[in-house]
Amino acid sequence: MHESPVDTPVPAHETAVRELRAAREIAHAFLTARSPDEVYRLALERVAPVVGAAFGCVYLRESDDVLRLVAAWNWPGEYREFLGEMRVRVGLGPTGRAVAESRFIEVYDIFSDPSLADWRDAAHELGFASTVSLPIVLSDHPEGALTFYFRSTERLDEADRSLLRLVADQLSATAEKAHLIEDLQRANVQLREQNVELEARFLEAEEARRLKNEFLANVSHELRTPLTAIMGFTYLLREGHEGALTDQQRQSLEKVDAAATELMGLIDDLLSLANLQLGRLDVRPETCDAVALARAAMGGIHDPSPGVEVRTLAPDAAVPVRTDPSQVIRILRNLVSNAYKFTPAGRVTVRVRVSSGSPWTPEARAGGDARHSVVWEVEDTGIGIEERDLDAIFDPFRQVDGSATRRYGGTGMGLALSRQLARRLGGDVSVRSRPGVGSTFTLSLPAGFLVAV
Ligand code: ADP
Repeated sequence: MHESPVDTPVPAHETAVRELRAAREIAHAFLTARSPDEVYRLALERVAPVVGAAFGCVYLRESDDVLRLVAAWNWPGEYREFLGEMRVRVGLGPTGRAVAESRFIEVYDIFSDPSLADWRDAAHELGFASTVSLPIVLSDHPEGALTFYFRSTERLDEADRSLLRLVADQLSATAEKAHLIEDLQRANVQLREQNVELEARFLEAEEARRLKNEFLANVSHELRTPLTAIMGFTYLLREGHEGALTDQQRQSLEKVDAAATELMGLIDDLLSLANLQLGRLDVRPETCDAVALARAAMGGIHDPSPGVEVRTLAPDAAVPVRTDPSQVIRILRNLVSNAYKFTPAGRVTVRVRVSSGSPWTPEARAGGDARHSVVWEVEDTGIGIEERDLDAIFDPFRQVDGSATRRYGGTGMGLALSRQLARRLGGDVSVRSRPGVGSTFTLSLPAGFLVAV
């Protein structure tokens, strides 16, 4: 309004050039600014001269009904020190009304408008005669205002209005983006802090886990020594090295021996589990026959209940597999004794077969027979397992339920140890089951295992 006489229309191309220039100036402000306040300051600095304003300000909501000055351009020097304290009430004066009514407010001549008598002193001291205020809208909500102050009292023409609207729109978009960026930066800082915290907790948990496993390994090791002595002396007594025994004494010693052997098995499992988790369990691979391993496993456990039929289905020829035989026997013993334990009557089938396309570890793939795996399946027609428990039974010390524990005994270590041992050997243990129908546990190992360190 200051560059052209009131009634002379501004040529369209000139308007377009000014709008483009303003848009470019704000885009530049946005690109170079590092914080929202800087965006407002830079936008004012670039735009105010384009529209011919003497000075300009940006206000944002501090609360529902109060606006705070967040940026000013060319504010008269002697009043600059009060800028930080400047507050405007929403609804009062041109700026307050622009926010309250969410529209463009134009005041042409402060000195001749009686309703603006309160503003005259300020206008006189600061040196402005007219002002325009445009709402800054964030997410459809008026959150502040952009106010320009002019020295003259000339009316805005349509070209000026459209330019200022463009400026306000641009600034709204800019402010919205800047707020998003600020939110993102805040979220980023928070995430980074949470990450540091999580990492610390993870390390603590890892350390606690390591200490627990160290403790378990040490305790198990210490328990073995006296138990070995108990078993050794029981053996000497049973063999009559300390004198002849009555039948009653012999039976009692057999019970001591059975209990001690079971305890030794539990301690060994605990020790292996702890060492596996500490990455310390050694494996000693050799070439063996998978069928012989199955038979060895079945030979070393208690018989099933009288109503249970046991059968082995295996190829006639040997099934060569390169693995650690003692660990495979251990896994199969766990699976077969579980099948016996959870099958009150029915059938347990142990199958041995060669399969192709089974999961392979990179270690096995790199060095072993990459085409085949050897599979042992232990199938029973016992009580079965609910779908929801199928994962949990592989957790250490987890059993399906308390009543089953009382009925069937056990510690809940067998499957956890079996799976971890199988993985250590480059394979896995998996399960399929239907409650009331039965379960099939599958041990699958690469036919040619190269020690994974
Ligand atoms: P344990 O047998 O000492 O309890 P395991 O780790 O070997 O520990 O087994 C965990 C749980 O998985 C068992 O308590 C039982 O609930 C379930 N389970 C394992 N094998 C079978 C099976 N063949 N049939 C039904 N449930 C089974």
